[in-house]
Amino acid sequence: MKDKSKIVVVGGGFAGLEFVKTLSNVEEYDITLIDSNNYNFFPPLLYQVSTGFMEPSAISYPFRKILRGMKNVHFRLGSLEKVVPNENKVVLDNGILDYDILVIATGTETNFFGNKSIEAYSLPMKTISDALSLRNVVFTRLDKATRIEDKKERKKLLTFVIAGAGPTGVELSGILSEMRMHILQKDYPELTDDDLGEIYLLDGQDSVLAAMSEKAQQYTLDKLSKLNVKVVLNTLVTDFKDGVVHLSDDTNIESENLIWAAGVSARVFEGFDQSSYGAGKRLKTNEFNLVDGHQNIYALGDSALLTNDKNYANGHPQIAQPAIQQGENLAKNLKLAPNLWKPFKYTNKGSLAIIGRNKAVMDSPNHIFFVKGFLAWLIWIFVHIMGLVNFKNKLRTFYNWIGYYIYKDQYFRMIIKPSDKK
Ligand SMILES: Cc1cc2nc3c(=O)[nH]c(=O)nc-3n(C[C@H](O)[C@H](O)[C@H](O)COP(=O)(O)OP(=O)(O)OC[C@H]3O[C@@H](n4cnc5c(N)ncnc54)[C@H](O)[C@@H]3O)c2cc1C
Repeated sequence: MKDKSKIVVVGGGFAGLEFVKTLSNVEEYDITLIDSNNYNFFPPLLYQVSTGFMEPSAISYPFRKILRGMKNVHFRLGSLEKVVPNENKVVLDNGILDYDILVIATGTETNFFGNKSIEAYSLPMKTISDALSLRNVVFTRLDKATRIEDKKERKKLLTFVIAGAGPTGVELSGILSEMRMHILQKDYPELTDDDLGEIYLLDGQDSVLAAMSEKAQQYTLDKLSKLNVKVVLNTLVTDFKDGVVHLSDDTNIESENLIWAAGVSARVFEGFDQSSYGAGKRLKTNEFNLVDGHQNIYALGDSALLTNDKNYANGHPQIAQPAIQQGENLAKNLKLAPNLWKPFKYTNKGSLAIIGRNKAVMDSPNHIFFVKGFLAWLIWIFVHIMGLVNFKNKLRTFYNWIGYYIYKDQYFRMIIKPSDKK
């Protein structure tokens, strides 16, 4: 009997997990899924975890439970450090594995554009750990503000600057503003209206939600202004230290809280030639997601730069759908004889962003039509609930959101810091 082909998949996000699910129970393959976390999570709802509106377990799920029943799939907790292509091996932080086929689906990490001070003191929003850390910092500082007499220092603790006006920045500024309106004065009676600080949303481009239609951008600007969010465009954050955010127009904002949602870049691993990486440090691939210069290494999702899809000559947007669709396409191809493989072609399903309660925007594919307000908000809720990985999380999130809709409040504002014990 012929040995099974060994597939090693690194990264169990949207792309890696879709790949594994589509190829599960195909007898000719033995699949190992490696991830540095023991859970899959849903990044679009991180901002709700970071502000105490959702609990982390509602948007995450353990891999070993997801993979139950997939007889040919094994899970390995570990972080990829190096690839050795001429020996078909991957070096992890806790061992070495060999493969016949390697799939890199490790997504992106926060890009601080080389600014060490921003990296050290700002609050990123990329992982569940980031979201929990942001939650701890925000609620620790709110409490600290109640004990501070100096009004200027108090305001610095209560002013939030969000860098990056993509969907994450817009969502965060909206939810922080709603928190300021509906929760802060109830929970922190020591603070007066004057104390509550400002919320700034900054971007180097000339619009919010740069990838969306002009109508969506305009509606978002209007709603953010009604929520008292100060939107500052065509302006970059140049530095952040000693409680001051420095801007490219030589002004600055006094704030202890810089939330960094301004950029990502793909993860780089030792073992690939520099020439394998393209824009955003993504691995360059052909139309089948095969990494340039390799015979048996594929890259998927945010890690991949596939430029021969006709409408996406600069690569696909780094969002969930291209990752899911690439994972599925590669898995389906691996079930076929090589001459029957289908090149990847992205189906754009449109884009959505939420600004706050009852306020969202939706662009249809190719911006043919635009939906806003309550209807877009309902669509946003439906799409995000469907995107969660299992039924229990969908139900919990739905229940949670009904609670928020009725009471304009949620209660996951606990400051929980892990102890150092290993
Ligand atoms: C805050 C936020 C909000 C977002 N909102 C939206 C949205 O509303 N809509 C949308 O479409 N997209 C959204 N995105 C983008 C979307 O999440 C990504 O495009 C998508 O997750 C890419 O999927 P992926 O499988 O390529 O990578 P990911 O989903 O990022 O998965 C990568 C996986 O690799 C693992 N990993 C990383 N490094 C290693 C390593 N060295 N070794 C082992 N494992 C590793 C990670 O733990 C992770 O599980 C958002 C992203 C963020 C950060």
